[in-house]
Amino acid sequence: MHVLILGGTTEARALATALHPRVRVTSSLAGRVAEPRLPAGEVRVGGFGGVDGLVAWVREHHVDAVIDATHPFAENISFNAARAAATAHVPLLALRRPGWVRVDGDDWHEVASLEEAAGVVGDFGWGHLPGRSPRGRVFLTTGRMGLAAFAECPQWFLVRSVDAPQPPMPARTEVLLDRGPFTLEGESELLSRYGIDVLVTKDSGGAATAPKLRAAREAGVPVVIVRRPAVPEGVAVAGTVGEAVEWVGVVGVVGGF
Ligand code: NAP
Repeated sequence: MHVLILGGTTEARALATALHPRVRVTSSLAGRVAEPRLPAGEVRVGGFGGVDGLVAWVREHHVDAVIDATHPFAENISFNAARAAATAHVPLLALRRPGWVRVDGDDWHEVASLEEAAGVVGDFGWGHLPGRSPRGRVFLTTGRMGLAAFAECPQWFLVRSVDAPQPPMPARTEVLLDRGPFTLEGESELLSRYGIDVLVTKDSGGAATAPKLRAAREAGVPVVIVRRPAVPEGVAVAGTVGEAVEWVGVVGVVGGF
């Protein structure tokens, strides 16, 4: 049995480790990160060339099942996976870690997109008060690919990303190159050292980057949180690596592997 994992996440790597070498596993990475953490089993890197390219790859490599374990905000590849799996007649599962849950004391402001987030960051700190400079201090943790949405913002930005971001980006930006997991202590220190007025994050879920939310709660820092896009219609969803492993077992039995 050959399982194709569309990866680029902690869960995708854990799934590859759980399946390999019992079943043949190929993990696919987009190639965005210069030095990615490599999963167990076979690895391929780079786009497939849209839905048709993915269908061709699945057929050529005799893939029996596809697991879309990409980041909850990687919308295009998830959409392509749904179309390609239907065309190639292979079962597809989406592995999606649960989103974060608001708790008492959180000051969360949900938005639907990065563009909407860019429109509200000026409402926090002192900037929105009459007579004050509209220049709050924003901690942006939405990844380097979406920076263009904030390019026209007058605020000061602390941008944290794995690799260095490219313009367009806000004129007043300081970049912090780092990769999770992060600690509560580290995140609290960072909020205070940079005098952060507002944190902007996607609802990525997961433990590795969750400490920033608790740090913000404890420091009374508001959080602008971008809601997740929906999983493509009709695609089965697993919330944990264990559920995905079970699904592979069922597909294997049904498929006679
Ligand atoms: P995206 O917008 O959904 O995908 C854009 C294109 O990149 C896809 O059409 C596909 O190209 C290629 N691609 C994406 N993921 C791929 C994969 N795993 N294997 C092969 N090709 C892939 O994706 P994105 O938001 O740029 O994310 C890219 C990767 O980074 C994903 O693998 C995701 O898991 C990871 N990641 C994303 C985020 C985020 O916030 N979006 C955060 C952390 C990690 P073709 O059409 O040519 O096949």
